[in-house]
Amino acid sequence: MVRRTVDLRSDTVTKPSDVMRAAMAGAEVEDDVLGFDPTARKLEEEMTRMTGKEAALFVPSGTMGNLISVLVHCEVRGSEAILGDNSHIHIYENGGISTIGGVHAKTVKNNHDGTMDLALIRAAIRHPDEELYFPTTRLICLENTHANSGGRCISGEYTDQVGLIAKEHGLKLHIDGARIFNASAALGVPVQRLVQAADSVSICLSKGVGAPVGSVIVGSKSFISKARRLRKTLGGGMRQVGVLCAAALVGLRDHAGRLQDDHRRAKIFTEGLRQIKQLKVDAESVETNMIFFELKESLKSSPEVFCEILQEQGVLALPTSDTCVRVVLHHQISDSDVSYALGSIKRAVAQIAGEVDQ
Ligand SMILES: *Cc1c(COP(=O)(O)O)cnc(C)c1O
Repeated sequence: MVRRTVDLRSDTVTKPSDVMRAAMAGAEVEDDVLGFDPTARKLEEEMTRMTGKEAALFVPSGTMGNLISVLVHCEVRGSEAILGDNSHIHIYENGGISTIGGVHAKTVKNNHDGTMDLALIRAAIRHPDEELYFPTTRLICLENTHANSGGRCISGEYTDQVGLIAKEHGLKLHIDGARIFNASAALGVPVQRLVQAADSVSICLSKGVGAPVGSVIVGSKSFISKARRLRKTLGGGMRQVGVLCAAALVGLRDHAGRLQDDHRRAKIFTEGLRQIKQLKVDAESVETNMIFFELKESLKSSPEVFCEILQEQGVLALPTSDTCVRVVLHHQISDSDVSYALGSIKRAVAQIAGEVDQ
């Protein structure tokens, strides 16, 4: 018997569906560096429409999408970007905005819901009369959903308020919208509304949308033409890229509109975890497809050991800190996978606690 695998490490682990593979095989392609790939154009037009911006550009990854966006907004040397201290750009992107772009990061504390206090954002903006000593603030970045906060949604109203602060000070607003489709589904608000105040957005297609590769950045025509040039500089110009864009188009059609299913399963999963007394989970923080849960001290185990035991049963989860484990739902996790994973977690806890009932 082939052992069952339930991969909950991330929503990036999905494999292209048969329909996607067929679309990839049949994709119409041309050289996209020369600007002629019809399938890439189609994807970019679709994303332009969905976000209400002027133009879009397919890029190899969310990391490159954020890097290009920040660098376009901060093209003058000595620029500073305001970032959440718990943001993906600040923590997980190799400090690329500094090491490659020469952009200085000014971090502001992220609240548990992924926002930053507006007063702290205002206070982080450098004043023109400080020019002799300080870098020049040019950009504010938000993240929606906010990954490290458990995939929490940032509202359109909050985003507008940050957008107003940016406008008042002549700054740009970038949204790392790696999981903006999840935010849109959970809030019941179109993506276009959530990103209305943003000058640019980077959106992953390789997460909830289920494509094997790629992200798209959107913004004004002039932003995208600069971004296209920078993409080439960074080695992200790809030739017959329609093969990848075709998969993303299938994902947009078949999966992007069904993320509520992942969110519903995440709630069921959370409820199941709450029944296990050696675990702690903050149900309120589960707004989308991610769940972070803690092993209580009484269990006397580490997330690493816990995940190894789980793995023996074919359930893959990620240890994220000394006490915390992360699971992420995606379209290749069914209701039955959720109950199987919960059963495995119960057994792992019992095994660690030394209870005979395994
Ligand atoms: C995944 C992710 C990214 C980066 O995407 P990659 O395609 O893995 O480079 C950026 N921001 C957030 C919030 C993410 O979750």
